[in-house]
Amino acid sequence: MWIDTHCHLDAGEFAGEEDAVALAAAKERVSQIVLPAVHVNNFATVAELAHRNTNCSYALGIHPLFVPQAEESDLALLREKVAAAMEDSRFVAIGEIGLDFFIPALRSEPMREKQELFYNEQLKIARAFDLPVLLHVRRSQDQILKYLRRIDVPGGIAHAFNGSDQQAQIFIDLGFKLGFGGAMTFTRALQIRRLASTMPAESLVLETDAPDISPTWVHPERNTPAEIPRIGQVLAELRSSSLEEIAYLTSRNALEALPRLASLF
Ligand SMILES: [Zn+2]
Repeated sequence: MWIDTHCHLDAGEFAGEEDAVALAAAKERVSQIVLPAVHVNNFATVAELAHRNTNCSYALGIHPLFVPQAEESDLALLREKVAAAMEDSRFVAIGEIGLDFFIPALRSEPMREKQELFYNEQLKIARAFDLPVLLHVRRSQDQILKYLRRIDVPGGIAHAFNGSDQQAQIFIDLGFKLGFGGAMTFTRALQIRRLASTMPAESLVLETDAPDISPTWVHPERNTPAEIPRIGQVLAELRSSSLEEIAYLTSRNALEALPRLASLF
């Protein structure tokens, strides 16, 4: 069995084909696909997709790329929706949240502050409900870690991880797993491949970030969660491990990072 810990099945690229895409992944033994929300307007969509497809679950959160148009009242709405979703077995985490200091429009001082406000407040919601978080970390490792040291959330996943060995180790020490996906299939992605091959086995989870971050054999077409086993094969090669072992340990790690997901098995 396999778990895709990060997939945007509600993205426009999948319009009208969401159920077929989830089913195609199930046929490849992808037993769970976690669908993070990105802004208040898609909370209902990810929840509905997770209820319609037996191999899907969801998270609720406001993504840094959607912070510019978000309003502070969205945080109160998130808290309300999370409180209600605690009754829902398909709801597994707070996400996708984080900081993006790569996109130029998000780098101005006021926008950095707004991002940090939303990130900080969403970490507090995660702590209040004892929920793990799905983190978007882009050119922001140190700031992301600064808040994690202050606000004690019960771990989660640093999605599409790309940082130094030292930063990776700090995430691991704080109880986080590192998400690896299509980026690691490119031979020029030296640092990501090195991390994937050297990080402790218990820190690795797989993800697609579909429809984005397509692996080499799909690029430049859209990525889908059915690619997880083949992405897992690349991880197996990088770690001189067997496919079965990678499937087992990445699934086990995903359930450890997202304990509510375990109730669905
Ligand atoms: Zn994402």
